[in-house]
Amino acid sequence: MPPTSESTSRTAPRLFGTDGIRQVVGKEMTPVFVAEVGSAVSTYLQGEGEVLVARDFRTSSEAVARLLTGALLMNGVSVREMGVMPTPCLQFNIRALGASMGLTVTASHNPTEFNGIKFTGREGIELPRTAEEAIEQTLYKHDFVRASWDHVGSSHVDPDGIDRYVGSILQHTDVPAIRLAKPVVVLDPGNGTSALTSPNLLRELGCQLITLNANPDGHFPGRPSEPNEENLWALRKAVVGFGAALGVAHDGDADRVAFVDEKGAFLPGDVAMGLLAKTRLAERKGGVVVTSVTSSTLIEDVVKGGGGELVITRSGSLPVARGILEHQAIIGGEENGGYYWPEHQVARDGPMSSAKMVELLVHSGRPLSELVAELPRYHLSKTKVPLRPLLRDRVLARVHADLAAEANRLVSVDGHKAYYDDGWLLVRPSGTEPICRIFAEGHTPERARELMERGVRLVKEEVDHLSSELTAIY
Ligand code: MG
Repeated sequence: MPPTSESTSRTAPRLFGTDGIRQVVGKEMTPVFVAEVGSAVSTYLQGEGEVLVARDFRTSSEAVARLLTGALLMNGVSVREMGVMPTPCLQFNIRALGASMGLTVTASHNPTEFNGIKFTGREGIELPRTAEEAIEQTLYKHDFVRASWDHVGSSHVDPDGIDRYVGSILQHTDVPAIRLAKPVVVLDPGNGTSALTSPNLLRELGCQLITLNANPDGHFPGRPSEPNEENLWALRKAVVGFGAALGVAHDGDADRVAFVDEKGAFLPGDVAMGLLAKTRLAERKGGVVVTSVTSSTLIEDVVKGGGGELVITRSGSLPVARGILEHQAIIGGEENGGYYWPEHQVARDGPMSSAKMVELLVHSGRPLSELVAELPRYHLSKTKVPLRPLLRDRVLARVHADLAAEANRLVSVDGHKAYYDDGWLLVRPSGTEPICRIFAEGHTPERARELMERGVRLVKEEVDHLSSELTAIY
């Protein structure tokens, strides 16, 4: 629910999920609420500076972007209207232009009735939680800073945002080698914003390009926005049918990428990350690689084999970005297909990742399936179980005690990750939902499943035990 002035509680309800605000349009996301978000952002910026506003193709995105823009201007903040572009393209422009902040109107891969607002700070990475809390608090209290009639902001349309961004990707990729090899690539933007950047980018790189679902459309008629194996069946067929070297797909706002090899096989996000990191470590002769706790042992193996150093962070795009900055990493990424290229920008970047994958293939001169076959193979199982926030800490304490007693090694950066001889188990409560996520990896699918079930049992037993204790007390 949007905050209202009648509320008397001192604590603002949490509006921000892991990726900004996401709501159903016409229900929670009303015109009044959007204007209030614009006012709260202006208040956070103390009515100063320039904000970049961009959007995706969702049916409601233009309306939301205009409402945000109007509220910012009225509250004294200037706006550069960037138009439709992928999230990483906006993030790149914030740093390139020295803006105060960036707002993207997008709900990424959520269903069509949703829309959302992503907030990016001046470094081109997501706002820290403290800034989100300040904005939530202002929204809740309706405590907005207003500008007088002679201090309203000014706005102008910037038509060069996409060219600026694509130019940086081309500058950081070996274009002559790709132009010589002319690889056949099939691209599936899934009717999302990468339809505006990636066909042009891949052609400029020198690929022979075939596209699917490259007509921007807020109804997402081609496929669901999440680029997983099941949703990419048409891309997998097209790659084989056209004899392409590579298939590339993005989620709705293109901060993530998924790849398909020349045989039509989908590459899990860890496998693509392993290959990209292995290549980069070889090129740079070592360096720091940043990934999060949910990543496969494959990444550890690759980093060890390449003489690099691995830094493991909490799960989420912000912790990984912070880790990259802090350790001056050469690459970062997570199993969801969000990869970072620090020489270009420290943000998840789908189009940049596609350019680096094409470069890798051309430099190797070998089929993608062969390169993948050289990587160690592990199997992942994941699920979630209900976990009320009230029980969270006590359940985690018990999980810690049990896992510490049986595992070879325990990493507690984000939940608890227990390492065994033939796999690992991660028990990680969600920060935004009343659930606990269980990830397990094994040398065989059976072992992965067994470890996952061990995690589910541990959490459920403790939840039952604590629930009966609470029932007895009350
Ligand atoms: Mg996304």
